[in-house]
Amino acid sequence: MQVRSCVRCGSTNIEIYDCGYSSFNAGHACCRECSYLVNITNHNNEEDVIRKWNAERARLRHRINDMGKEIEAIEKMLADDKERSTR
Ligand SMILES: [Zn+2]
Repeated sequence: MQVRSCVRCGSTNIEIYDCGYSSFNAGHACCRECSYLVNITNHNNEEDVIRKWNAERARLRHRINDMGKEIEAIEKMLADDKERSTR
């Protein structure tokens, strides 16, 4: 499974850590460039850590995208409003 790039800085230099215990497994994925850290528990193996790092990245990218659209909509509304009031 491919490790996606860091959501904060875009680096692909990501440390994947899985302590390997069969129960109470703790792991993390950490960007070596900017130290952005995702702590991961309840995973089975390294592949799982990667999957969760990728999922967290996708979740944040999604939110950033949605917020961007909302900001655009607000700016458009305000611009339309301004046009109306100056006419
Ligand atoms: Zn980073």
